[in-house]
Amino acid sequence: MKVQIRYLGDPILRKKAVEVKVFDNRLQELIDLMYEYMYKYDGVGLAAPQVGLNERFFVIDDGQTKRTVINPHILEYLGEDVEYEEGCLSIPKLYATVMRPEGIKVKYQDVLGNAVEEELHEYTARIFQHEFDHLEGVLFIDKLTVVQRAKIKSELSQIIKETKKSLKQLSEE
Ligand SMILES: [Zn+2]
Repeated sequence: MKVQIRYLGDPILRKKAVEVKVFDNRLQELIDLMYEYMYKYDGVGLAAPQVGLNERFFVIDDGQTKRTVINPHILEYLGEDVEYEEGCLSIPKLYATVMRPEGIKVKYQDVLGNAVEEELHEYTARIFQHEFDHLEGVLFIDKLTVVQRAKIKSELSQIIKETKKSLKQLSEE
């Protein structure tokens, strides 16, 4: 199976991903691949749309616990909104402070399809929310203030330009 990281400007990053229904070897293989890519690119999370799969799952590693998260739901937001600097493997080398709730109560399925429910806080909650957004077609740059966005405007258009160029090359091959 061949997958590759998708970058800002690739339409798949803006699609709402669809629910996973089959928990089989294919899913396990994709998840293994995603962990591999996540570590290779020094990420702490990677969502399926970021490797071109329009499906509702992601992997995260907060440095203490690895989590394979399938068909997630955020049941409740906890605590206050806090600032944290975010980046994204699909938007290389750009970082910005994003406001999000400190904690969340979530439910999802593991790789075998078993239901998991837990409360996440701080860094773990942050990564979870960022990856969850990917399944909705939302990117962290959507959450920036007008001023923040203006500051990185030219970098963003540069990434989009390069993505469009490589997508065009791919389609001509
Ligand atoms: Zn991301």
